[in-house]
Amino acid sequence: MKSNRIIMFSGAGISAESGVPTFRDVGGIWEQYNVDEVCDIQKFLDNKLDSVKRDKIFEFYNMVKSGILSVLPNDAHRKAAEWQKRYGLKRVVIITANVDDLFERAGCQNVIHVHGDLSHMHCHSCNYIWYIGNDTFENIRCPECDSRNTKPNVVFFGEQAPRYADMRYHFHENRMQSNDIVLYVGSSMSVIPPTALLIPPHQNKCNNRVLINMESNMLDGMFNHIYHGKATDGMIACDNDLVIPLMG
Ligand code: NAD
Ligand code: ZN
Repeated sequence: MKSNRIIMFSGAGISAESGVPTFRDVGGIWEQYNVDEVCDIQKFLDNKLDSVKRDKIFEFYNMVKSGILSVLPNDAHRKAAEWQKRYGLKRVVIITANVDDLFERAGCQNVIHVHGDLSHMHCHSCNYIWYIGNDTFENIRCPECDSRNTKPNVVFFGEQAPRYADMRYHFHENRMQSNDIVLYVGSSMSVIPPTALLIPPHQNKCNNRVLINMESNMLDGMFNHIYHGKATDGMIACDNDLVIPLMG
């Protein structure tokens, strides 16, 4: 039976080969920065009038952003873009926890960034989001409501993640068809585990559950096609083994 859709979720591992460090791996960003200082909404709000601490947050995200702008998409991002071109946007859904724009620069469209992205600013007070492209982040007031609680459009710990609803929509058991291809790529499974996407006991409803990850994990058993290794190699192998034969 031909496959209807590819639904892909990716974490930091998919961008690692482009040169963007992951967070939790050895040598990852959390070894150099205190996560509470730069990614905690309560701390951010508590520091409302402390411009030195606020500036540190902006400095951190500007450093991350300039690192991302200096690298290029890799073959894994490009493969996802190729699938959207081949099969159409409705049949290839790309969801990522990443805040980089490497999918977009590879040619992907309608990418769902469940943890936000670095091309926008966000006002925590009124939820206004505005595009800044490649510009640096600045500690400025909200252009809509004048609040000082403006930040990079990255979902901090303790903050709502509004795009989780879009992610759940695509993975919903009533929408999932047995011939769909679900891909889980380059994530340590600690932030958005596959159990949150392929929700038991319906997880087996989909026949093509593909994992592409560098390391093995105790949740690997949820998948029936496993590629341990680099995301680029896994995406290319998955294209040949499953996507081309099944998507038609
Ligand atoms: P993580 O940093 O916790 O783990 C990364 C995973 O990718 C690990 O399981 C690792 O084994 C795997 N990996 C590393 N290199 C790989 C490669 N070349 N090919 C395949 N897999 C590889 O990742 P996470 O759980 O996604 O990160 C936590 C949060 O931080 C997420 O929201 C994530 O998106 C975000 N984050 C984003 C970026 C980015 O935007 N590029 C970078 C770091 C972290
Ligand atoms: Zn506002």
